[in-house]
Amino acid sequence: MALVAAACNPFFYSGSGIDHVLVGSADARIVWNTAHDAQFPDPDHLVAAYEIRVDGSLVATHPSTVSSCRLQGLASATSHAVEITAQSSSAEDSGDWPGSIGTLTTTITTGAGSEAGGPVTCVTETDTDGDRIPDWAETATGVFVDMTDTGTDPARADTDGDGIADGDEVVGTLGGAPLPLLGADPLRPTVFVEVDWVDDSQDCGPHSHRPTDAMIDRVVQAFADAPVTNPDGTTGIDLVVDYGQGGLFNQGNEIVDATAPIGSLIGGVNDAEFGESKAANFHPSREGYFHYSLHVHRYNSSSNSSGQAEINGDDLIVSLQCSDSLTNTSNTLMHELGHNLGLRHGGDDNTNYEPSYNSVMNYRFQFPGIDTDEGTNACDAVGDQVLGFSNGDRVLIDETAVDEAAGVCGTIAIDFNGNGTIDAAPYPLSVNFDSDLEVLDDFDDWSALNFGGVGDGDGAPLRVEPPVDEQPVPDEFRS
Ligand SMILES: [Zn+2]
Ligand SMILES: [Zn+2]
Repeated sequence: MALVAAACNPFFYSGSGIDHVLVGSADARIVWNTAHDAQFPDPDHLVAAYEIRVDGSLVATHPSTVSSCRLQGLASATSHAVEITAQSSSAEDSGDWPGSIGTLTTTITTGAGSEAGGPVTCVTETDTDGDRIPDWAETATGVFVDMTDTGTDPARADTDGDGIADGDEVVGTLGGAPLPLLGADPLRPTVFVEVDWVDDSQDCGPHSHRPTDAMIDRVVQAFADAPVTNPDGTTGIDLVVDYGQGGLFNQGNEIVDATAPIGSLIGGVNDAEFGESKAANFHPSREGYFHYSLHVHRYNSSSNSSGQAEINGDDLIVSLQCSDSLTNTSNTLMHELGHNLGLRHGGDDNTNYEPSYNSVMNYRFQFPGIDTDEGTNACDAVGDQVLGFSNGDRVLIDETAVDEAAGVCGTIAIDFNGNGTIDAAPYPLSVNFDSDLEVLDDFDDWSALNFGGVGDGDGAPLRVEPPVDEQPVPDEFRS
């Protein structure tokens, strides 16, 4: 049947469509979702062009970089059938597929007037910021309505500053990643992550490193709670994770590890086995848009480390051996993703274990979670299993003159030296367990996130630092 013959033709994802607005009584502006070519991993199969038909006649052909145009010459007071198909670089046609997979359709009914119509054309219009959304559709209202009224800034290619251009978030990417159908929003930061995992039997019998819904939901909620204000006036960051949960989220998958030790990587994020797994399981259309998180038993063959990540990059490992509990997994995933987003163990620096730095990036809070600001356990610099990055609101600690009365919140005392009393006089003490007497600070992680690391091509020179190897799971958090 036709479906078999068309198996490598380009197609439109379910949910794709054409949006339009009328201009006068004889013109209409249209914007459509990008198509995708199913061949993987074959860069020769890309969408090359779109054909626009009106009432069955071809009126325009545009290269794949075009996702909008202005229909001219329509008859007024008439319903016109508009169809769009995609052609691949190897001359395959999406129109060979049936239905909406192969052909986007809409009906445009023009307003009252006396135009008889013809010849019909569809011309491209000015796109000042080059984000594949024409200026007329970037309405700068701060409210996204549809592809013809995006609310974005016509002079700024990435209105929400999340490293993903407005067009990629509104119509889909040139490579066919259906970001809008996966939840991208051009007015709110969106972070995409694909999780692949192994099932193995090392150390504790057969088990899977696939994250559960609850593990992912916990990290998604932590990002949703981010105290950052967006161009649409909302707060929070959209974290979108594909761990194979279904629908369009169908590319997170189990990695079958055929290389001993089964279930563990021989090296880390910059080494061959990780790279081979990514090449075989991460669709090229996601490169530059998705972080790739591989959940294995161990890396470096025998390391007890809980994970590894690039700083300002797109690759991360979660490796919790037999201890991938709900909180251990969600906390470690957020910690490694934080490194990808530019954070370090001291926020902007590598000073670790600071009582004043209230972030899951801090080893003090990686497994216990961060310290709450309210309630009976507030401001004691002990984690309360709340997942989050820091908002930078904690006070400085001068280790040459530790002020127990001030604690970490300025108002609730902490017995830093454990002598059973709140000392009235300041004293010197390294409260982060190193030998230096420094001023320890907090850091506003949320305002400092670098969303650009996702553009780190594998092995590309953008990555200037070695990846970070994490602490093992502390005994009290082992299962
Ligand atoms: Zn395992
Ligand atoms: Zn780390």
